[in-house]
Amino acid sequence: MGTEVTAKCECGFNGKFAVGGGMDNYTDTCLFPCLCGKCRQIVHSNLFQKPLHCPKCGSPDVIPYDDPRLVGNPGNQNVASWYMDLKSDHELVLTNGTYLCPNCGKMTLRFRVTALFD
Ligand SMILES: [Zn+2]
Ligand SMILES: [Zn+2]
Repeated sequence: MGTEVTAKCECGFNGKFAVGGGMDNYTDTCLFPCLCGKCRQIVHSNLFQKPLHCPKCGSPDVIPYDDPRLVGNPGNQNVASWYMDLKSDHELVLTNGTYLCPNCGKMTLRFRVTALFD
């Protein structure tokens, strides 16, 4: 089961993103919001697809939003989390902290859960 989150920033940026995969594709799909350095946008990358690349422009310059470089203030609560692989303990997490906004470039972006899907 995956999670749908919204990302909002005080500059007006507003987007919807998915974390994880659905029932039928969870073995080969793990969507996670990533920042594309070329598009300067948040894009969905399938983290199972290595090397990571931007689905829009194809650039390998994408950073998943659980990377410390994109985290301003680590939150104290998980908004969404996803185990990429049941055999590994790599857990992807979005917290209620602040993240880098692709629009204004400040660490003022926040994620919120809007829906669960499966
Ligand atoms: Zn791109
Ligand atoms: Zn912003």
